[in-house]
Amino acid sequence: MAKASLILVLAFATTVFADDRIDALARAKRLCKKENIKITTTIHIADEHAGCDAVYWPSTDTIEVNLISSYWENPARSQTDSYNRRISSTSHVDHVIRHEIAHAKFYRHVGVTRGLEVKHMQFGIDTTLISNEVGFYATRDNLEFVAETWCGIMDGKKYSDKIMGYYNALWEQP
Ligand SMILES: [Zn+2]
Repeated sequence: MAKASLILVLAFATTVFADDRIDALARAKRLCKKENIKITTTIHIADEHAGCDAVYWPSTDTIEVNLISSYWENPARSQTDSYNRRISSTSHVDHVIRHEIAHAKFYRHVGVTRGLEVKHMQFGIDTTLISNEVGFYATRDNLEFVAETWCGIMDGKKYSDKIMGYYNALWEQP
């Protein structure tokens, strides 16, 4: 029994603390420190965030990394896959944390009330254009559009005047 438990614990530790995951989390911590954003790790299994790799909470200005997400087993491979499937705007290995940092920057800039307002606003431009230029995830809502476009710009991507005009307008207070 004790032996079986030990094997289970070792198997769990090997999965959870694989090198790629440790490296990705170390970089995530450094990136958040640079932006002065709190970062925590958690495990979302059976709630609404179960499918999320990470979540930003504007109320506490904290990025929560969902350790159980398979994304963290191999972030480079997961992100390349997501980019190739035209879901994400970049294939950058730190895309997920950059995306959450973008949420933090936006909420800090416009305030939590306005941030939530923007989230629930109807899109002001064609979502097919967003999907084609930025990526499918950016069509989820305006906040995801802002975050994914920000990541794209950070990665050196160039977008059309229509995308950039809409992006810049969302950053402005009404
Ligand atoms: Zn997001």
